[in-house]
This record gives sequence, C-alpha cells and structure tokens, in this order.
Amino acid sequence: MLAVAERLRGTGDVPDVVIWHASGDGAECAGDCEFHAIACSDVEGIVLPSPMRDMPVDLDVPGERWCDDCLAILSREPRDQAVRT
Ligand SMILES: [Zn+2]
Ligand SMILES: [Zn+2]
Repeated sequence: MLAVAERLRGTGDVPDVVIWHASGDGAECAGDCEFHAIACSDVEGIVLPSPMRDMPVDLDVPGERWCDDCLAILSREPRDQAVRT
C-alpha cells in the first residue's frame, strides 16, 4: 500500500509518532514532492513530505501506525465497488 508519512512531534517524554496515510491520488512520487494528497482528506495533505513508501497494511513497527481514517476508507472501497458493478 503506497503511503505518506506524517510525523507527529512528541512533547516531553512522549516520543514522535509516525502516522502513515494512504496516498490520496496515487500520483507518481519523484521523491522531492512539495505536497502529497492523503486518502482521508480532500483538502489536507502532507506538505514537504518524505517520499512515499510501500507499507504493509498490517504494519507492526513501534512508534508507527496507520491513520485510522485512511484504513477505514481503504477497507470500505472494495465493497463500494462491488455494489456499483
Ligand atoms: Zn489518513
Ligand atoms: Zn512524493
């Protein structure tokens, strides 16, 4: 799953957390983009992002997790398509 990282700065003893959003537009990533769209928002995205990476949906990395909204959208889409066809 092509994903865009959002780093949430920790405060005090709380470490940084990396949130992985599904790519919003599936656009080619050249690695030096100024903006990446994310699946969970039509208007927001990641500014000056790190390059997109192909991440497993069952990500199991300490301090990193998937965006709940993006996961919900991803799990919903195949069913929507099945209904339409
Ligand atoms: Zn998201
Ligand atoms: Zn990019």
